[in-house]
Amino acid sequence: MKEVDYIIVGQGLAGSVLAYSLMKENQKVLVVDEEAESSSSRVAAGLCNPVVFKRLTQSWMIDAVFPLAKEFYRNQEVLLGDNFYFDIPIYKLFIDQKEQEFWKQKSNEPHLFDWIDDKIEHPFDEELMNYPFGAAKTLQSGFLKTADWLEKFRNFLLIKEAYINNKFDYDKIEFIEDGVSWNGYSAKKIIFCEGYQSINNPYFDWLPFKLTKGEILTINFKNLKIDHAINKGAFLLPFNGNYKFGATYNWDDFDNTPTEEGKEQLLKRAARFINDEVIVVEHKAGVRPTVLDRRPLLGVHPKHKELAVFNGLGTKGVMLAPYFADKMVGLILENTELPDEVNIDRFLEKSN
Ligand SMILES: Cc1cc2nc3c(=O)[nH]c(=O)nc-3n(C[C@H](O)[C@H](O)[C@H](O)COP(=O)(O)OP(=O)(O)OC[C@H]3O[C@@H](n4cnc5c(N)ncnc54)[C@H](O)[C@@H]3O)c2cc1C
Repeated sequence: MKEVDYIIVGQGLAGSVLAYSLMKENQKVLVVDEEAESSSSRVAAGLCNPVVFKRLTQSWMIDAVFPLAKEFYRNQEVLLGDNFYFDIPIYKLFIDQKEQEFWKQKSNEPHLFDWIDDKIEHPFDEELMNYPFGAAKTLQSGFLKTADWLEKFRNFLLIKEAYINNKFDYDKIEFIEDGVSWNGYSAKKIIFCEGYQSINNPYFDWLPFKLTKGEILTINFKNLKIDHAINKGAFLLPFNGNYKFGATYNWDDFDNTPTEEGKEQLLKRAARFINDEVIVVEHKAGVRPTVLDRRPLLGVHPKHKELAVFNGLGTKGVMLAPYFADKMVGLILENTELPDEVNIDRFLEKSN
């Protein structure tokens, strides 16, 4: 039997960030992933937007999560010798005068002062883009090239002999003295980071996910060239010479297959502000691990202390993963209490 400290199931954002956070504390991990091509993490645009544009409020816990996320991915760039995280302003295009006024008023409120700019601008070609009420930008935002980072990080794990490509089979879990074993490995705990596939986990199937499928296009234009990210009911993000454009939100369909309806919906949204020919390069879909109360899911199984979960990163995995992985490490290594609003104990009555 090979011995590790922790087995982590899933090498999406949650599993990868957690694996590194544990390795930094000198813990021996084994990450198991079946390498599904369309995982939420791999299709995500990777945007870190500190502002909720609809209501013009700060994103949840932004002051705590944003600096830590940026530091985490910058450290990964040094560790893995490549660039994955890029600062980029996100321009909000106003739909009318009222929305523009609301932005101006909000940009002077102290809690948004550091996050959004008060200047109304016209930075894009007005022939090719329709935005008569102007635009204004976020001051601190960026994006992670999620698929690139995950691939490089997987190679790092492989070199450390800390990764296997395998479907995790729940029937092979055995509870042993002081821990748990699976498929020839023994560990203190197994930590599940399966994203939406957690609904198939017999130990955690009581967690109240409210999953959201998302479809995203890679597009280009005949003439239009843009260097910044844009939001107008959907986001447009310059990406490797093309643009990511998305995303849809669908609460009824839970597979990773892109649909004609999804594509049509996105192209209609693009047509609302782009007056140029749109060329579709790629079309993908993934399922976001969103939760009924929109908060992450962290904690230890109520009956089997050898099993834990780190999931529910929802629509904001890039920003949330590093901060909450730290909380998870605190729980596992020091038994530090979790904040109530992310602790799975809030759903305990559903586990019986
Ligand atoms: C279209 C779209 C756009 C998005 N855009 C953004 C964005 O701009 N910014 C942002 O922050 N977030 C975005 N998100 C959300 C983000 O993708 C999620 O918050 C995050 O990726 C969730 O990561 P995860 O690791 O929990 O889950 P996942 O990415 O689903 O990873 C789970 C992993 O577990 C593996 N796995 C599951 N079960 C098993 C098993 N039994 N055996 C072995 N392996 C298993 C899977 O193969 C997978 O690799 C977007 C999501 C979508 C769908």
